[in-house]
This record gives sequence, structure tokens and C-alpha cells, in this order.
Amino acid sequence: MPLLVMKFGGTSVANIDRIRRAAKRVGVEVAKGYDVIVIVSAMAGRTNELVEWVEDISPLYDAREYDAVVSSGEVVTAGLMALTLQEMDVPARSWQGWQVPVLTTSAHSAARIDEIPTDNINAKFGEGMRVAVVAGFQGLSPEGRITTLGRGGSDTTAVAFAAAFGAERCDIYTDVDGVYTTDPRITDKARKLDRIAFEEMLELASLGAKVLQTRSVELAMRYNVKLRVLSSFEEQSDDAGTLVCAEEEIVESNVVNGIAYSRDEAKMTLISVADRPGIAAAIFMPLSEAGVNVDMIVQNISEEGRTDMTFSCPTNQVKRAEQALQEAKARGEINFHDLVADTNVAKVSAVGIGMRSQSGVAAQMFKTLSDEGINIKVIATSEIKISVLIDRKYMELAVQALHDAFELDKAA
Ligand code: ASP
Ligand code: MG
Repeated sequence: MPLLVMKFGGTSVANIDRIRRAAKRVGVEVAKGYDVIVIVSAMAGRTNELVEWVEDISPLYDAREYDAVVSSGEVVTAGLMALTLQEMDVPARSWQGWQVPVLTTSAHSAARIDEIPTDNINAKFGEGMRVAVVAGFQGLSPEGRITTLGRGGSDTTAVAFAAAFGAERCDIYTDVDGVYTTDPRITDKARKLDRIAFEEMLELASLGAKVLQTRSVELAMRYNVKLRVLSSFEEQSDDAGTLVCAEEEIVESNVVNGIAYSRDEAKMTLISVADRPGIAAAIFMPLSEAGVNVDMIVQNISEEGRTDMTFSCPTNQVKRAEQALQEAKARGEINFHDLVADTNVAKVSAVGIGMRSQSGVAAQMFKTLSDEGINIKVIATSEIKISVLIDRKYMELAVQALHDAFELDKAA
């Protein structure tokens, strides 16, 4: 029988009523003749609560026990969903990660899926089970311990199951009705996209759009899993929501398809470092060892053998970055006059695969910002993305102005 993966996020299973509503959606697909693998998140808010309890007991917690605790939310919703389906006379049973088993690395709290053997679940489908309800977010390490896949990880569970079982599609049910050109809370001109390319979604997810875990998009792209994002709160037709798919499946596309933003950026500048071979490595090695996620990097023009080096990182990593750099200075590996952190910045990015073939996008972006009197502090580009760092107080204005300038309210 054809197979679908349906994933329900925390708000879609937040209470028994909503679980019933989600189960009804599953029932519709079963009635059409699909076998279904349902992936569930924990009830909304539950994982946060579990994390707080762990941190309350032990700030420097044992990550194996953290995983044992925070994976429990999904265990509850998987069982409740299976029971609800059974009440509707749909043959269903629940599966915890270790029962499938979802085999992962042993990187606790950030594990990666290595393999999902399909035999156990397929054997049950063979015996007449129509729905396998699998607890998202969790797996089993080679050492036999429970692991979790990082916050938002049940998206990744869903895509991995769709790839392993060759599902026709992976539907991600959530509290929004699809992927938007930008955050509708910032401009009411934001438009829901019918389709978006994997590459664009990947950029948008890693630039701060929170609909899908970045890793899940990476996996979907690698295995060409058709991914659909849609609302569990509305009646759904077969083409509802947003389809995340290969570029070839998109006929008409705007040059820019999304404006993303991230509020929590900091700009760090090392004033007057020696401009010599190896200096970038000497600065960024200790940062990487300290786990700082460096994003944009600019080396300024040097004068008399000295230069300023600027980079951006998440605001909550500023302390760690400062410590790593001061220690490297103390060890004599680098030398700088001053280290200045600006935590009042935000990153705004324009994303679109059309940029590959169309020039002038960067110029238009800079012109738009300059017309609004917004100063650009750092610029970074990739083939399909242009990001700028600006003062945080202009972030909303920048998003609105760029959304207008690239006419994102109009479909291609
Ligand atoms: N419950 C987990 C979290 O809140 C995983 C997920 O919902 O995707 O991060
Ligand atoms: Mg999520």
C-alpha cells in the first residue's frame, strides 16, 4: 500500500481534543488507502518544562539523563495518539525510538540519525496495522542509551522515516498554514508560498524562520523527500500548505522568495590585530573550539601591518567568544588592542534561487536600505542569499521595505 508520513507538532497535540482532531486527519488518509507513519511531538510547552526541571537540578547535567528526561514528552503523545486511533477503529500502535529502533550517534541532546531499519514496522503493516505512531525527537545510541535529536528534532524524525520507508510525501502539520515570504507579524503583506525550493527553505530555516528544523530540510534535500507544511487547524485539501521540493518542480519563481531576520545577533570587532599569514586561523580556531557559531566575517583594510577583524555570532555566545579570544591573547597566539561587542544588531536576509541567474539583487537591496536611512554594518552573501547586519531598531522597517522592494506580495 502507498505510505504517508504525517507529523504533528506540539500545538497540534497540545490536549486530548487536539489529538482527536489530528487523529481524524490521519483517519482520512487511511480511508483513502494509505498506510501511515505518524510522528508526534510532545504536547506544547512540555519539552521546555522538562528542560527546566533538568537545569534546576543540575546546571552541568549529565547529557544522557537529560535525554532520558526530555524524550519522555513524545512517549506520552505517541501512546495517546495510538489509543485515539484505536477508538476510531483504526488499527494502530505506538513505537518509541528504541523499539523501531531509530539508531543514532551518541551525541546526546544533538544526536544524528544513522539508520532506521524498516523490518519491525513493515512486519506489523503486513499483519494489518494501518498506522505506526512513532515518538519523534528520540533515538538509541550505540551504547544502548536514549538520545534526542536537538530542539525541534521531530521534524527530522519525520523526514528520516519518509526517506527510510520511501513515503509518497511527508506532511508536517503545525500551527501555521505554510511557509510565508516573511513573518506575517512584521508585515501583513507577507504571502504564503505554494512551493519553495529545498535550498531556499534551508537558508530560511537556518536564518531564523522557525517552521522546520534545519536538519530536516537538509535530509529532505539529500533524499528528495517531498515535504509539505500545513495547518492542523483547518480543513485541508490535497494541495494545501506549502510544498518544499526540488527546484525543477517549481515553474515560476520570483528572484527573491523570502526575507528572513534574526534578532539575536552580535557584532564583535577585534581592533588592531597583526595582519600576517595565519592570523584568521589563530582567531577562529579558538572560537570554534569554544563552540561559538561564527556567521559573517569581515577583515578590514590593513594599515601598517595591522587590521580590524569583525565577525558576528549569536548574542548568547558573546561571553564565550570574549573568553576564548582573551585566553588566546594570554597564550600569545593573537594580539589585539581592544575587543568590542555590539549586541544591538540584527541580521536581515533576502533569499531566492533566482539570484543565481539575475544580477543587481544586492544593489537593489542596498539601495532600498539606504533610501530608508538604514546603515549597513556587515554584508555576507552566498549564491542564493544576501545578509546584512544593521541596528536592531531598524529591523522591522528593513524587512518591510525589502518585502515591498522585491514585490514579494505578488506571486511570480
Ligand atoms: N519536543 C521537542 C522540542 O520541543 C521536539 C519537537 O517538538 O520537534 O524541541
Ligand atoms: Mg517544531
